Amino acid sequence: MSDSYRQLLEATLQHVECLKARGVRHLGVAPETLRALAMPPPRTAAPPPEPRGSRREEAPARKSEIRNPKSETDSSLLTTAATNISSPVIAAPVYSAPATPHSAMEKSSAFAALRERALACVKCPNLASSRKNVVFGVGSLDAQLMFVGEAPGADEDAQGEPFVGAAGQLLTRIIIATGLSRAEVYIANILKCRPDTPGETAGNRKPTPAEMATCLPYLHEQIDLIKPKVIIALGATAVEGLLGKTVGITKLRGNWQTYRGTPLMPTYHPAYLLRNQSLGIKREVWEDMLAAMEKLGLPISEKQRNFFLKG
Ligand code: URA
Repeated sequence: MSDSYRQLLEATLQHVECLKARGVRHLGVAPETLRALAMPPPRTAAPPPEPRGSRREEAPARKSEIRNPKSETDSSLLTTAATNISSPVIAAPVYSAPATPHSAMEKSSAFAALRERALACVKCPNLASSRKNVVFGVGSLDAQLMFVGEAPGADEDAQGEPFVGAAGQLLTRIIIATGLSRAEVYIANILKCRPDTPGETAGNRKPTPAEMATCLPYLHEQIDLIKPKVIIALGATAVEGLLGKTVGITKLRGNWQTYRGTPLMPTYHPAYLLRNQSLGIKREVWEDMLAAMEKLGLPISEKQRNFFLKG
């Protein structure tokens, strides 16, 4: 049994013991966890060959290779779900993630274990009691491009998937305009629960620094496992969470940053694009996407280069 597999097993046992001590008697298990459990553990000496193709959570599997943009979408593109544990929380078990999972199976099971822990998280009691779903993330575990937003809104909380509301639909159109699909990238948020707004029936609020600090380790682990080649930080909160920078997004956008060695491009949040229909702002976001495409070595057509340019 490899060290990383044993570490994962120990962390899982520790987590289950902790839940049991809190009185939890039943656990939801994700299908990918069951699949991973049914497979033999990897051998250290001869790890199983890495299967081709990506593993996607919460969506059908798609091929992971970044492909040529088939859809030459025009500029109109940019126009317009969990476990609820109510018992009081002490401290969540400390998880020591395998530094570098050796195989696709190890990566998949480490990701599934991480997801299970996030879905059961009650470290922010106010959010744990107000949420409908923990919104863990969606996309390919082999994604080369990862988007990070702020926090789930009402639609995301209801569906358990990030960026499915109006801003999310715009983000999906932006992704498609690059020639990629939602299934080929990975999308997550700084916060995995919808920020509560007690006494109000609608509206969103920015996560507090304490909520961000509490939730960020899950995102760090997601990024460590996926290892994207490029991260796009959507809006000021994403930049603040990932880089600790509170400089205005207007100043930062368009300028490459580095998140633990990974190139990170800050850009405007799609919700801002929905509020501000200026062609100039759309072009700026598109330029940030072009920069990311170039960094990834994606082909860029003339039509794509010229989106949102006048004349
Ligand atoms: N805004 C975000 O920042 N994230 C979502 O998932 C949805 C809207």
